[in-house]
Amino acid sequence: MTATSLALITGANKGIGFEVARQLGALGMTVLVGARDHERGAVAERNLRDLGVDAHHIALDVTDQASVDHSAEQIAAEHGHLDVLVNNAGITGGPESGRPSQTPLAILRRVYETNVFGVVAVTNAMLPLLRQAPAARIVNVSSEVGSVQATLDRDGPLWPMTSIPYPSSKTALNMVTAQYAKELWDTPIKVNAANPGYCATDLNNHSGFRSPEEGAEAIVYLATLPEDGPTGSFYGHLWVADVGPDDPQYGRLPW
Ligand code: NAP
Repeated sequence: MTATSLALITGANKGIGFEVARQLGALGMTVLVGARDHERGAVAERNLRDLGVDAHHIALDVTDQASVDHSAEQIAAEHGHLDVLVNNAGITGGPESGRPSQTPLAILRRVYETNVFGVVAVTNAMLPLLRQAPAARIVNVSSEVGSVQATLDRDGPLWPMTSIPYPSSKTALNMVTAQYAKELWDTPIKVNAANPGYCATDLNNHSGFRSPEEGAEAIVYLATLPEDGPTGSFYGHLWVADVGPDDPQYGRLPW
């Protein structure tokens, strides 16, 4: 990565995405602050600039193909390439998601539109620009709740959680990550899924025990991987993995 590297973060107006923008900006990257709401994006841009980041708001609703196409055209016209894509925008579906047997299909569809279809739409629109960079990185912000292995661990922290929309959307996102990694295996582009860990943000009414700053760490790590770094991996906070107190905080998670 050079000081002039360009990163696009979707849903960067708040929470973990904002922190990723701040931390990549602190590394010297120019950051494009994806936001679906103009005012919220403009405020985030201002706040990041106040922190010394070369931030530029870009209008981007990941569920709106016209918005996705327009943002790709804008980046092509203004920069001609993209070094880092962080697919961060995500929603949970809220408490109305219900238990599996009561899943409202409208909520399931809405969550997949953002967390899965939105990622594919944005990635496909940005790939021609990522191919123009010397060694682009794609980071899909997933979650430990998408791990099938961790969710079926009766002694693990995810056992009490029974819901289809959000967890299964992240499982699908993990497979989306693996499929892009395979297609791009023989290119310099690396594609990985990140687990921020359980962070206090609007997404969970600030119930998480980690900060957004900590949540951004694994994402920034994957966004700045060296040439010999992994591709097609699920990496991040190891809360749900079988680790002890002396084990590292970050590592590969079970799919
Ligand atoms: P957050 O504070 O609610 O932020 C979510 C961001 O996504 C907001 O900027 C939101 O924009 C944006 N967004 C939602 N729908 C969008 C759309 N259609 N187009 C563009 N942007 C959209 O949540 P967060 O906790 O930072 O979550 C960020 C990512 O981390 C998500 O993918 C989430 O699943 C993942 N994650 C979070 C945790 C956690 O504990 N917090 C754990 C694991 C994974 P608006 O402000 O306009 O709504």
